[in-house]
Amino acid sequence: EPMGGKPMADRPMPASTVTLTHPDRLYWPEDGVTKQGLADYYAQIWRFIAPFVVARPLALLRCPDGITEACFFQKHAWRGINKAIRQVPDPKDKGGEPLLSIRDLDGLIALVQAGTLEIHPWGAPLGGLEKPDMLIFDLDPGDGVGWAQMVAAARAVRDRLEADGLTALVKTSGGKGLHVVTPLAPKAGWPAAKAYAKTLADAMAAEQPEDFVSVATKAKRNGRIFIDYLRNARGATAVAPYSSRARPGAAVSMPVAWEELDRLAGAAQFTIANGPARLAERSADPWEDFRVAAVPLPASKRKP
Ligand code: ATP
Ligand code: MN
Ligand code: MN
Repeated sequence: EPMGGKPMADRPMPASTVTLTHPDRLYWPEDGVTKQGLADYYAQIWRFIAPFVVARPLALLRCPDGITEACFFQKHAWRGINKAIRQVPDPKDKGGEPLLSIRDLDGLIALVQAGTLEIHPWGAPLGGLEKPDMLIFDLDPGDGVGWAQMVAAARAVRDRLEADGLTALVKTSGGKGLHVVTPLAPKAGWPAAKAYAKTLADAMAAEQPEDFVSVATKAKRNGRIFIDYLRNARGATAVAPYSSRARPGAAVSMPVAWEELDRLAGAAQFTIANGPARLAERSADPWEDFRVAAVPLPASKRKP
């Protein structure tokens, strides 16, 4: 479904039939955000998040008692799982546990009911698990990296993608960094996508070693930005656009316009509290052409 269209105020808020138990449970105690508050957030922004979370395998960060208690990543079902959270066999993992996915707002609210505070989809849909329909460059700042440096890094990734005929969109992570996301027409497989992303990250690190690293070693990150290309592998995930984050502040990962980046205070500027109003007020969704902009990886670079 295209993401553009009328502002949310013109549309009725969609309703879910999933019952929340303990709706007043504080998921973000310091921010006063409850389970009900998170469900209301997702109902308000449903049409924005739907294309990124429906019919894809999901990894969930669950914190059933809120962000100050135990949290765990979960890729498979649990006892008593709501029927709105679907279980889908992984054809490459015969005998393994099924993948999790949702189809509708009931699925999303069932995730909230289960204490899911972060939603991490695959970069490929259930209908085509072997061919990613997006690339993600996760820019992770080392100690001492300022916002201007993050913004410059994101633009440098964009410039390289655009030079290859690809589109680059950007979102805040809701944590410390930025995610540059490229919609792909699903022609290439995972090995080629990962090889392409690695080549790009390695080239940036080779040309500006004082600014960028492309290896995950934490010690090398001081003052530098890690261009984390490793999200681009089968079964790897990155947090979904518009997903909440299980961190103090109740921030969300938010698509932003390239021109907007300099004005932001940081990657956690948008939150469950201010996100819906931002989305309702904007005349244009910076990611509204996401699917329209999808082209295949350049053929010359498709070999893994
Ligand atoms: P930040 O901007 O603070 O880096 P982030 O969401 O990019 O926020 P990262 O630590 O860079 O956080 O992780 C990138 C992605 O890798 C996560 O969004 C998640 O999908 C995946 N990931 C990280 N840790 C785990 C884990 N323990 N298990 C599964 N997936 C993980
Ligand atoms: Mn990151
Ligand atoms: Mn990372």
